[in-house]
Amino acid sequence: MLKNKKISKRAIGNLLNEWSQEFTVFVPSRERGVAVLSKWDGKDTSFTGWYRNTAQPAKANFFPPAEKMFSFQKDKEGYHVELPSSDEHKQLIFGIRPCDARALIILDMTFKDLYEDPYYLPKRNNMVLIGLGCTNPYDSCFCTSLGINPGESTDVDLMLTDIGDQFLIEEITEVGKELIAKASQVEEATEADEAEAREVKKASYNKVTGKVDTEGIKEKLLSCFEDQDFWEKVSAKCISCGICTFLCPTCYCFDINDELVRRQGTRFRSWDSCAFPVYTKMPMENPRLEKWRRVRQKVCHKFEFYPMNFDIIACVGCGRCIRQCPVNWDITQTLNSLPTRV
Ligand code: SF4
Ligand code: SF4
Repeated sequence: MLKNKKISKRAIGNLLNEWSQEFTVFVPSRERGVAVLSKWDGKDTSFTGWYRNTAQPAKANFFPPAEKMFSFQKDKEGYHVELPSSDEHKQLIFGIRPCDARALIILDMTFKDLYEDPYYLPKRNNMVLIGLGCTNPYDSCFCTSLGINPGESTDVDLMLTDIGDQFLIEEITEVGKELIAKASQVEEATEADEAEAREVKKASYNKVTGKVDTEGIKEKLLSCFEDQDFWEKVSAKCISCGICTFLCPTCYCFDINDELVRRQGTRFRSWDSCAFPVYTKMPMENPRLEKWRRVRQKVCHKFEFYPMNFDIIACVGCGRCIRQCPVNWDITQTLNSLPTRV
């Protein structure tokens, strides 16, 4: 029995407006020529025609570039701390790609399973994800090497597939089912729609040309960890700008600072990057002063240390670190040229 639904692309605006009654809705939009997730303006659905993926991943909705942790003030009785009021409003992201949805599962392992992050979790728990399969991956994408099909995801609440004038809708979670039960202009998908969606997913998968051989990669990295010549060679052109880590959907390092004016101030956290020379600066020494050590850290954290801790590679092959790097540093070239000693 068929269980999927469909909706006409012309009706997407209405659907987003319906969801706006309950959620703050984010959709892909263009800002200064760059695709970003923006609050739904109530009318512009043109992204259904041009959208490939956002420059900044959805992680920024859960883990913003800068975030107030608390404010404080000192008086005669001591320090008084005030926590920011928690935003209980539910958010809905429309159009998240399967790679970025998987990245949130990977982020959860740090922010939810390793410890319970009081800033990330309320947003994550109040978020509905509407996935949209890729039909036009970038040359720099290599998600299929990480076990991701660009046309499919079970890491979302609803998964949509572009089948021409319509989207096929798969209800993945109970939350997704409830959304569809309340939605107007949704119809039952036909067998022809299902067949079309299967073809679209297959074509999407085959369009991903970037490849990384992940077989035994943890062991390969372990065996070349001390190979300074290799790491110096592959890191030579990096300029330590940190863009690759800021835009990576699975990078989560942050720094904590206080902004102090007289007797009151704010503590906030902001994205940090292992690419920066001062990132590991300590009173006695900086263990990653040389650039090759920092590039090694970035690669090994994703492909060696995270798998050791969580049994999953902390990269989803979204290709942002390749597309956005000002000097065209390419992580796939490094991974595919690892010396093989195992
Ligand atoms: S974006 Fe490129 S240049 Fe900048 S830190 Fe990353 S690899 Fe280095
Ligand atoms: S390392 Fe690069 S390809 Fe992998 S998830 Fe991060 S930005 Fe995407």
